[in-house]
Amino acid sequence: MARIIYVNGRYTPWAEAAVHAEDRGFQFGDAIYEVCEVRDGHMIDEARHMQRLERSLGELKIASPMSRSALARVMRETIRRNRVTNGSVYLQVSRGTRPRDFLFSYATDMTPTIVCLARSLSRSKSEAGAAVGIGVRSMPDMRWGRCDIKTVMLLPASLAKEAAKEIGAKEAWLVDADGFVTEGASSNAWIIDKNGHLITRAVGNDLLCGITRTTLIDLIRRQGLELVERPFTIAEAKAAREAFTTSATAIVMPVVRIDDVPIGNGAPGLLTSKLRGEFHSVAEVSRS
Ligand code: PMP
Repeated sequence: MARIIYVNGRYTPWAEAAVHAEDRGFQFGDAIYEVCEVRDGHMIDEARHMQRLERSLGELKIASPMSRSALARVMRETIRRNRVTNGSVYLQVSRGTRPRDFLFSYATDMTPTIVCLARSLSRSKSEAGAAVGIGVRSMPDMRWGRCDIKTVMLLPASLAKEAAKEIGAKEAWLVDADGFVTEGASSNAWIIDKNGHLITRAVGNDLLCGITRTTLIDLIRRQGLELVERPFTIAEAKAAREAFTTSATAIVMPVVRIDDVPIGNGAPGLLTSKLRGEFHSVAEVSRS
């Protein structure tokens, strides 16, 4: 099936979906995005994703291009036109197009560029992947100081994932100057210690406040499990009983190896798999 991409008001065939060469997203990485899981044709945790999108726009002083409900309509229509039942929807907003200039505040008439795409992902393939788990590679976090904003400046993350791939790992766990894990290149990082405590770094400017992380915390609280929001080192993670990552596309993904060290018995952890199985009992499902 031909893929359809929304660009600035038009639903265009993939081959024709283009933005201007002087779009600030292209020249400066001056753009933010959201990725939302699509499950059984519905967006998951839409309200939280839209809230974070608005926060990202606000932090960069990009004018909101349209109302939250209008953006959601674009996302739904993109999902529909691409016949996505299970997969993800991606929404990107850049500050807009202007002759290249570092300064932007004078250009009060700039119109944000909006791009939306949707992609199918086989549920059985995802589940098969989660049944095996992933390896992660630790490496220095070389990103900027505002990782709480979901910008498209993903080159460090892209390079980190390429480096992870070199050792057969699917994700990179990024380590700050003090030796603590900030997060994954495209996910939040978690460990479970020998007491069954779930440990993940508290949110701040150095990591993204993942929506899957937030919703998983709802589940953890509902189940009366112990949550500890604090930084942890790679050495601690390697000695953990279980480890996993969270993201809208991978949900709760077991980590079975960090660098060359197996986690636990080297298979997905029991609590991790249970949390994955129960995640959608707490996540918000958009019915409209
Ligand atoms: N951290 C980073 C750096 C990410 O790119 C992502 C995925 N967008 C996450 C965390 C997880 O966020 P979410 O659960 O909202 O997908």
